Amino acid sequence: MKKITIAANWKMYLDELGSIDFINKLNAEKELFSSHDIIIFPSHACIRSVKDYLKLDLKIGMQDCDLHKKGAYTGSTSINSIRIDSCIVGHSERRLVYEENNDIIAEKLKTILSSEADPILCIGETLEQKDSNLTKSIIDNQLSILPKDLHQQNLTIAYEPVWAIGSGDVPTNKYIHEMLSYIKNRLKSLYSTADLDNIKLFYGGSVNANNINELISVELIDGFLIGSASANFEKFKDIVKQIKL
Ligand code: PEP
Repeated sequence: MKKITIAANWKMYLDELGSIDFINKLNAEKELFSSHDIIIFPSHACIRSVKDYLKLDLKIGMQDCDLHKKGAYTGSTSINSIRIDSCIVGHSERRLVYEENNDIIAEKLKTILSSEADPILCIGETLEQKDSNLTKSIIDNQLSILPKDLHQQNLTIAYEPVWAIGSGDVPTNKYIHEMLSYIKNRLKSLYSTADLDNIKLFYGGSVNANNINELISVELIDGFLIGSASANFEKFKDIVKQIKL
């Protein structure tokens, strides 16, 4: 059976004390959490504390990064500022709230690919785009920034319909399957088999302990990017407990 990855995007939900408290609770349940493939994405200011307190072999990532690696960019965070395993790029909150367009996301993706961290590129349509039958062209456009050659680096594409994020509205398995198949076919047209072996597909949007079992049956899903439910220890634990090894 494939190993499902759980990527916990804590967004800006937890402050430093809240992050440490969460990590202490993870540490106390070593058996459950260390047998799963988990990546925690704390807010940038809490990554150091999370790394210092974490006693389990889990991965740590950044929720976003600057497109530059160094320089006069007040308030921003470089991918090289701290050693991490993964970095999210193109999250819909960055696209919509911070108005990041494809050009910026393409630069950030390039920056991450040239670092030690593995990128998770988020893509997905808004409700308006879905209702106008634009989903596939939005996916095409958001995937158009992918480099021609991945040189066998790891890459994850997280399909996150914007209308499913934080709304409780989860697409049907049929819908997710259709979109992931579409994404997979686009990737097949771009990359060699060797590169394809290093690409994972995640689903994200209102995942919780009640729906994850149903969602796991979508064959193409390698993992989940989880927002609000991942920042609450009890909810996160309930989700992880559902994943059979
Ligand atoms: C997200 O923001 O990536 C996400 C999936 O959020 P939520 O789980 O809260 O819908």
